[in-house]
Amino acid sequence: MKKPLFKLDEQVYEGVHGELTESILNVKCIRLKPNNMLLTREEKSVITSEKIEDLAVKLLKLAVTELPPDVKNALKRAYEEETSEAGKTQLQAILENVEYAEKTRTPMCQDTGTIIFYIKAGVNAKGLDLFEEALRKATQRATREVPLRPNAVNPFTQKNSGDNTGRFIPFIHWKLVPGETIELTVFPKGGGSENVCTLGMLVPGEGVKGLKRFIVDAVVKAGSKPCPPNIIGVGVGGGADISMKLAKEALLRPLDQPNPDPEIAKLEKEIYEALNTIGIGPMGLGGKITVLGVNIEYAHRHPASYPAAVAFQCWAARRATARINPDGSVEFLTHKPI
Ligand code: SF4
Repeated sequence: MKKPLFKLDEQVYEGVHGELTESILNVKCIRLKPNNMLLTREEKSVITSEKIEDLAVKLLKLAVTELPPDVKNALKRAYEEETSEAGKTQLQAILENVEYAEKTRTPMCQDTGTIIFYIKAGVNAKGLDLFEEALRKATQRATREVPLRPNAVNPFTQKNSGDNTGRFIPFIHWKLVPGETIELTVFPKGGGSENVCTLGMLVPGEGVKGLKRFIVDAVVKAGSKPCPPNIIGVGVGGGADISMKLAKEALLRPLDQPNPDPEIAKLEKEIYEALNTIGIGPMGLGGKITVLGVNIEYAHRHPASYPAAVAFQCWAARRATARINPDGSVEFLTHKPI
């Protein structure tokens, strides 16, 4: 059997010698093919376009057919706590629908939403340049195979692309983190809940009091439109774009994980309890449970600005995440793999 060859600064090492060189010097050698040719970009990385595409198709299928455990538990708890008959009937129908979607691996809602990906990319991870194209192909493939309703429309011609892709869609949010792993999250974002997302430039002098009023007003105004019970993501500070970005990211935090800052966690609980006294109820038919949770994220703000954003997520709070390790192995973080 041919031993692998390693190249470092024009010096070629063979087999164990190469591995030892790497560990002693704490460097990464370039792997050579047995015929001494340099490996191609894809061969150097165990993370290939095909692997990323396959993983993203699996994550999309998981996200649209199976809610993450924290959302399922919150819906079950909502059913137990709901006091109105109409609200309980709606929650029962939602829970049955969720169970059926999971059993038959069919989408839990006809609205595909807009396909969004979040990537936490280790700065030393390989294959990052392969993601954009692979995720586009995965979206097209998932549209055919799951199947997903085509939802990407040109805003000027009104023409539907037919495969859930288009200009900037699927949208990819990149975040650089230390290390070599890559965390990929799919987030098919429903249109009904998107339509009521709200941005406000509040009065700085009103502080948290003004913020609470802004959130309650947004939920009251939204009424039944965002298919409640909702998850409310709140982003505060930064600037107009930053607060909305934070509000959206807040929707990705599991419902059983309050903000690590105890003061903000307290505020999340207080607003959650207040919103569940409004009476909009499941699917807006009246009842106790209007929201499943409130997640708040913040950035520091300009002294003269108080930007705040409220992002809505519907009961079909679809998301799925997996981690790709440097050796190419994959861990599913929100679901059991299919
Ligand atoms: S907002 Fe959510 S639940 Fe309502 S139709 Fe869209 S995806 Fe479905």
